[in-house]
Formats: sequence, C-alpha cells, structure tokens
Amino acid sequence: MFCRMRSYKAKMVEPITLPSREEREAALDAAGYNAFNLDAEDVFIDLLTDSGTGTMSADQWAALMRGDEAYAGSRSFSELRDAVRDVMGFEYVVPTHQGRGAENVVYGVLVEEGDVVPNNAHFDTTRAHVANQGADPVDCPHELAHDADADHPFKGNFDIDAGWELVEEVGEDSIPVVVQTITNNSVAGQPVSVENTREVAAFADEIDATFVIDACRFAENAYFVQQREAEFSDASVAEIAREQLSYADAVTMSGKKDAIVNIGGFAAMNDPELFELAKQRGILYEGFPTYGGLAGRDVAAMAVGLREAVEPPYVGERVEQVAELGRLLTDAGIPVYEPTGGHAVYIDAEAVLPHVPKDQFPGQELVCALYLEGGVRGVELGGFAFPGTDRPDLVRLALPRRTYSREHLEHVAETAAAVKESAASYGGLEIVEEPPMRELRHFSARLEPTEAPSSAD
Ligand SMILES: *Cc1c(COP(=O)(O)O)cnc(C)c1O
Repeated sequence: MFCRMRSYKAKMVEPITLPSREEREAALDAAGYNAFNLDAEDVFIDLLTDSGTGTMSADQWAALMRGDEAYAGSRSFSELRDAVRDVMGFEYVVPTHQGRGAENVVYGVLVEEGDVVPNNAHFDTTRAHVANQGADPVDCPHELAHDADADHPFKGNFDIDAGWELVEEVGEDSIPVVVQTITNNSVAGQPVSVENTREVAAFADEIDATFVIDACRFAENAYFVQQREAEFSDASVAEIAREQLSYADAVTMSGKKDAIVNIGGFAAMNDPELFELAKQRGILYEGFPTYGGLAGRDVAAMAVGLREAVEPPYVGERVEQVAELGRLLTDAGIPVYEPTGGHAVYIDAEAVLPHVPKDQFPGQELVCALYLEGGVRGVELGGFAFPGTDRPDLVRLALPRRTYSREHLEHVAETAAAVKESAASYGGLEIVEEPPMRELRHFSARLEPTEAPSSAD
C-alpha cells in the first residue's frame, strides 16, 4: 500500500551530483578514509544520519516565516506547547536546542553521583549525560536485540528481568530514573511494544523511580505498534502514540527526528515540580523557557512537524521506505539486520567483506567502498566506532525523512551489489592518526588502506 507511491511532491529541489570515480578516490584519500571528513557536496546519496536531515513541508516553511522572535512569551512557543499537549499528552514543555539539551535539563535534575540508570539501550548522548552526572548508565536490551536474524516484532523492548536483577544488585534507592528509548536507536531502530512500556512503567512505579521515555522516534514506533501489536491494529498512529507516552512521567525529544525539523528539541512532563526544576536548568544551559536556545521560527516549525509526524500516511510511508531499502539490499545479496527498524538499514559488513580481518575494520572498509563505488555515505557502528567492544561490524544506512525517492534507493542497492562484486579489491584499513579520546575516534581519526587495492577480479 505504501510501497512505491509518496503522498507528497517536490516544491523545492536541491541538486546533488555524483563525482567521477577519480574525484571520489581523491576525496576519500583527503578524508583519511573516514566518511565524517568528507565534504557533503562530494557525497551523492547521504545516509550518514536521519537526524536533522529531513525535508520540511510547505506548512513548516510557512511557519518559519510566521515565527515570533519575542524573547519572552513568544506565540511560537504557545504553538509548540499546544502541539505537545495534543500529540504527546504532556502539560509542560521546556524547549531546547536539540535532544541532548533535553537530556541535560531532565537528567541534570533527576540524576546524582552514584546513581544507576537503566534503559533498554542508551543512545550515545543519553549515556554521556547520565555518566556526566557521575551515574552509571546500564542497558537492559531484549535478549534477541543483538541477533541480526531473529524474527521478533519488538526486538527493541526493555528486558524487565534484567531491570529487576539490577535492582537486586544495586538496590532500588540507587535508581532514580528508568528510561525507555522508542524506537531503540542503539538496537537497529527496533520498536518497543506498548505492552512493554506498561511493564516498564509498573517496574518504575514499584521502585519509586521517575519513568522517562526517550521519544525521539515515538511516531515511527507507534506505526510499528499498529502493524504488529494485535491490541492496536484498529487504532490510529496518533492514538497509539498518545497511549504509549501516557505511561511516562516525562519525555526527552529531539525535534531532528520525528518532529521533522533541522534543529530543535524539548523535554515535556506533567509534574509541575519537575517542570520547575527543568525550566530553571533550561535557563542556565539553553535559554529563556519560551525559546530554549532556538529561534522562534524553529520552535514554530517544530510545532507543525510534531503534528505531521502522526498524521497519516506520512509515518507509514516513512517506515515502509526503510523496509524497501532493506528488501532492495537483500535482493542484491547483501545481508542486513532483520527485521529492518524505523529509520535505518544495517548491513552486516563482515559478511560482505569476509576476507577483511576484524582488526582491519571491515565495517569502515565497507563505508569507504560504498562511497568509492557509488558516492553513498553510511556510517560504521562496530569495532571502529566502539573500540574495545566485541560488537559486530555493522554499517548503518539511515534514511532522511521525505528526502530520497525509490530511484535513489535502487542506486544504493546497486552500489552495494557492486561492492560485493569487487569485494576482493577491498583489503582493510589501519588507523594512522587518532584523537586522544578513544570513544570519539570514529568522528575524526584518519586511516589508510593496509595494502594497495588490486584491480577487481
Ligand atoms: C538523536 C538522539 C538523541 C539526541 O538528540 P540530538 O538532537 O542529536 O541531540 C537522543 N536519543 C536518541 C534515541 C536519539 O536518536
């Protein structure tokens, strides 16, 4: 039903070009074989992230023009507050410059040194904010989360048993907050069932913890629930989203994801005391509580995008487009994490380049190969990005919202097939320059091929 047709047309276009093979080779060499160092204009199809890279609607652009830039009491803020009430069901909202700003105002007031914070899986910035408070972020992923082939509708779920084990280990007084991330970004964008959200809410309630939902992709998650959770097959995405979020005490939100804007975020809650504390911290780090580090126009566009996110047929088409990319890749013989999640397809790089030893970064080599073969930019999430872990080398291709068409996806699949075809010419990489903080090395490290690529045969 959603597969090929998009229920929108282009009103404004942005030219993209595929540089020649020689230009791509030169660009990759200059970038130190690290796609983060490439100039975006040297990239043909940019699947580095779905964060802030989506296409705004005509209504959002109109809202930009109407944005109220008043320092205090901006009309644009009232529009956001109303949208958050209507779409997410929270009374109070603290706008922030993006999702991590929301994490700062929420975890900054709820979490203290020595605390422990369970989450189905922390996203990088969430983990960093919890750790920055001197607390210990602990992941409680579904038992099948890291099984790329297991067929389960909600591999993003929070493992309640793991939560209880943690309580036994550290004591409930150490756990002020329980977090659930929907969809689960760090677990291949896998969804979370409403049933699981209810269980986490009950768990948090029993140990007297505040229940926070990391709601960055709440609309994509609601679509999966509609498709996969029997209780909700007749409910609308909007109804499901409201119900799922109703179990939380607060949400942190990146507008760059499901509010379909290029910048923005917010925290929202119903408890006036938590609101007051978050607001005060927001003033310190973000700005006055009616603009939160954003221009009024950005707040206005985010209010419109939040409503569009749950309005059919947008989100169904969005999630099905990701599934379509997954199918095109599978048909081309490229093994991917299954089922595909809400915002990205994850390629098993070790299967595509089986001859590249793990310590020569097959995932990063695949990222380079996709760029060389077709000007496609993805990102490695494996041994290069997470040194010292035994993570499998996956390459993530994240789809910006409302941006690319089926022909673009076909080009991506053809590119991946071409890499597979010439796999023997891709040898492996070694790091030649590394920043001091190892956790951040994938953003700026420089690499070199371990051996000169031979011609394909
Ligand atoms: C993107 C993201 C964040 C952080 O949001 P930013 O807008 O990038 O600061 C937090 N949690 C999840 C799950 C995310 O995907």
